[in-house]
Amino acid sequence: MKALRLYGHRDIRLDDVPTPSAPSGWSVVKIAWSAICHSDLREWFGPSYIGRTGKPNEITGVYFPVILGHEFSGTVVEMNGTHPTIKVGDRVAPDGCIYCGTCWYCTHGHYNLCDNIAVLGFDAHGSHAQYVAVPNYSLYKLPDSVSDRHGALIEPLSVAMHGVRQGQVKLGDTVVIVGAGTIGLCALAVAKAAGAAQVFVSEPMPFRRARAAEMGATVLDPNDGDIVKQLRDMTSGPGADVALDCVGTEASLNSALALSRRAGRVVLVGVMTSRPAIDIDKIGLDERELTGSLAYANDFHRSIALVADGRVKLDGLITAEIPLRDIVKAGYERFERDAKDHLRIIVDCQAI
Ligand SMILES: [Zn+2]
Ligand SMILES: [Zn+2]
Repeated sequence: MKALRLYGHRDIRLDDVPTPSAPSGWSVVKIAWSAICHSDLREWFGPSYIGRTGKPNEITGVYFPVILGHEFSGTVVEMNGTHPTIKVGDRVAPDGCIYCGTCWYCTHGHYNLCDNIAVLGFDAHGSHAQYVAVPNYSLYKLPDSVSDRHGALIEPLSVAMHGVRQGQVKLGDTVVIVGAGTIGLCALAVAKAAGAAQVFVSEPMPFRRARAAEMGATVLDPNDGDIVKQLRDMTSGPGADVALDCVGTEASLNSALALSRRAGRVVLVGVMTSRPAIDIDKIGLDERELTGSLAYANDFHRSIALVADGRVKLDGLITAEIPLRDIVKAGYERFERDAKDHLRIIVDCQAI
């Protein structure tokens, strides 16, 4: 089969590789659509890899070269073992976490924090390919009302779902989201579905700001000056009950802290690449809670249900569709060059 493999920074190749088979307890999924994510780009252009330990993963044995991709939909074509509700022929969106199932975290509902976690497309072979092998426990069925295209976005939607749940957004809350990339826009949709009364989105790029407005946010534009003042001018309240940093930089985290009210909650959803300096008094003296959010754990079924019943709409997040044969130039190189114009480029993985 064809697969896009990462050999190291600045080295990706569309290779011919053996089609995977399913070990005991695993399935093979024929991939329909696979989305290109900023994390995929970061693995490619560096300067660091996400979550690698410098040796083959303990569960999967995978190191380099690794097949990229973790946001995808497809059809189960082989199942070794059983699943309580899914069989060969079903359409699915698989959870990207592969975990030991026996450590403290796995046995206490936090499999995303497993001692030996492997993540599809990072330390397990991923979905920028025609087929992928995944554990049966990772399979989630797509109902007829969720298309294959939208199925490829259940994974990033679940990242946002986890962040909003970590933020404990409640009915009537004021929520601020910093960053209107795919995760920020998904968080906007989920926060509204969770009952937030007002959702503000801070975003400097006009295209993304417009998309946030279309999806029902009140936008804050950092190019127009102090976003805290903009928020205060538009609300009578003291700031957001919950702020989500969906970027992951020192500036974005400090914005989230400044936009949240005292005794509010701030969730770090974006993946930090440096150690930020923050005003610790905003935690210690102001009683804010600052919490993390890593990937997802038991969130896929919630994401699928919200898309299936129409409360979360994903159409606006797909900015291009390309064939697998063009993934390097029309996908990775174009996404890096024109990042400001794109949210998710999705790849037709059978178009070789
Ligand atoms: Zn992703
Ligand atoms: Zn574990």
